[in-house]
Amino acid sequence: MYFVPDDTERCGFYECEACGSRFLHLQIGPIMVCPYCGETPDMEIGPDEEMPVIEEHAKLCKVLQGEEVEQYDALLSLALTGGDYNWI
Ligand SMILES: [Zn+2]
Repeated sequence: MYFVPDDTERCGFYECEACGSRFLHLQIGPIMVCPYCGETPDMEIGPDEEMPVIEEHAKLCKVLQGEEVEQYDALLSLALTGGDYNWI
């Protein structure tokens, strides 16, 4: 398991509109901050730079339950590790 704990019974499957990343998250909501492109603002920015804005790009595609959690986790993990991109 890569995205969520082994005993997860229910999680959300999200897809980011901005960077196209797909991931699972225990938090289930209609939209959330993408962990890949919508990260916590960099606090090292200089005073002349614009304040970073946290944007929520990742939309909930599907709520996964039971075996689906493990299936999607395995597929996404495989894609991330360079195994099989074709399923997407
Ligand atoms: Zn993103």
